Amino acid sequence: MVKPKRIVMPRQDPHYRIKNFNEVALGYSAEQAMEEASRCYGCKKSRCIEGCPVNVNIPEFVEHVKKGNFEDAYNVLTESLLFPRITGRVCPQEAQCEGSCVAGTKEGCDPLAIGNLERFVGDWAAEKGIVSSYEIRESGKSVAIIGSGPAGITAAADLRKKGHYVTLYEALHVPGGVLVYGIPEFRMPKAIVRNEIHKLERMGVKIKYNTLIGATKSFDDLKEENDAIFIAIGAGLPRFLGIPGEELVGVYTANEFLARINLMGADKFPQYDTPIDVGERVAVVGGGNVAMDSARVALRLGTKVDLYYRRTKEYMPARNVEIHHALEEGVRFKELRSPIELIGSKGELMRVKYSVMKLSSKLDQSGRRIPVETRRTYSSPYDTFIIAIGQSPNPLLPKKTRYLRTNEKGYVIVNPETLRVASDDDCLAFAGGDIIGDQYRGRGGTVIDAMSHGRIAAKNIDELLSRTGWKMEKMVVAMHPRNV
Ligand code: FAD
Ligand code: SF4
Repeated sequence: MVKPKRIVMPRQDPHYRIKNFNEVALGYSAEQAMEEASRCYGCKKSRCIEGCPVNVNIPEFVEHVKKGNFEDAYNVLTESLLFPRITGRVCPQEAQCEGSCVAGTKEGCDPLAIGNLERFVGDWAAEKGIVSSYEIRESGKSVAIIGSGPAGITAAADLRKKGHYVTLYEALHVPGGVLVYGIPEFRMPKAIVRNEIHKLERMGVKIKYNTLIGATKSFDDLKEENDAIFIAIGAGLPRFLGIPGEELVGVYTANEFLARINLMGADKFPQYDTPIDVGERVAVVGGGNVAMDSARVALRLGTKVDLYYRRTKEYMPARNVEIHHALEEGVRFKELRSPIELIGSKGELMRVKYSVMKLSSKLDQSGRRIPVETRRTYSSPYDTFIIAIGQSPNPLLPKKTRYLRTNEKGYVIVNPETLRVASDDDCLAFAGGDIIGDQYRGRGGTVIDAMSHGRIAAKNIDELLSRTGWKMEKMVVAMHPRNV
């Protein structure tokens, strides 16, 4: 008899965890993982595989976990997934693999906790020092990758395995993209990202930091120096509300706020020289993962946090688990409320004026009821206001070269099947991750989508480079299990 409810992952108590930045979810033990895996129905037609953007063979890896064969489980996972420790933690599983799990469709039953099992297997392998081994045959071709977020690092690993000389160019002083500068430590420990990227370096991938392509070095130079380019620069340009007062002191975009904590150690003042004073009351606007992260980080700085959202929480795009954790920790949700003005004195934020909203019966393109303003407006005092309503593509790079074209939203235009950039010139460049939005199968905006783009682009780059004939220079074994 299959148990209806999943094994809940142990986590830090909310009262305690809001005083630290350590990971909230603590992971399964081996016994818990085996027990959870035994809930799998082992369906003949596994819908969960189709639900995963990289089609992980879920039933097979889960079967190995069930039997306690964790190394076999790891090998199955890493056939389609390079970084299970990352995806197991941040994938929106309820909309992907777990959303397609048959167990979850039965009355009173939870879907199998696939993400938790994936995380367990990834962590177990890291603890045991197990890494996959690859035999790399040098191709003599070189590929430049711009951006070291999930799309860039996935493409880098796949291209390097095919023997290409890979250089990753990163604007910041650290690799990992949003995994490092956006998602907070309590959800995505930075040591894990560093560890995964270290694997790339051991494979021979070169990383050049502090290099902003389009400013420090030109795209056209990269084109001259390499056989192909993969553009994975994300979409890091913050969006504003366009309301009066956004220039006041005390108003941050989520990007700036989170980067100050994640990259500049603002939470560790005075050990670090870059404090952030959020005062006693913080308002965050938005309903996605970025808004939840901002609100929960602000809480950990010892302040009261209100989260403004113009619809009701059922419509929030954030992962369910993040909404649940935010509520558990004491973030106060102000549903059907939309800020319309930020009121200041002497250049500093004093109050937030907001409009009360209601949901009309009309639906928007995403199928959600459209919020409309009522005539009621109020204002409340705040010291800090954080805008977390999404990001757009940064136009810097596309503007600096004739080889890239963008659509009306600023996304780099690609062939939606191959991800090769649309260009009138002979340019062997591909793009993926947040910089292409949802041009690939209408999906985008998540870590695993970015990783799947990186994988597709790498495969197509490799095919094109192989067609033009390789020089087989030498054979090396770049990574050997337990030898590195
Ligand atoms: P990014 O991760 O943005 O990386 C791009 C990299 O390129 C950056 O390091 C940047 O510095 C670099 N770069 C940019 N321009 C240049 C240039 N010109 N030259 C050199 N380098 C450049 N997704 C989930 O699936 N689950 C979550 O829980 C989740 N939470 C999120 C929380 C936050 C706060 C944010 C902001 C996003 C979250 N997302 C989440 C979305 C997810 O992180 C992104 O979809 C994903 O990181 C996109 O990957 P990417 O490789 O395209 O770009
Ligand atoms: Fe699920 Fe993400 Fe793992 Fe795919 S990569 S099986 S969607 S957790």
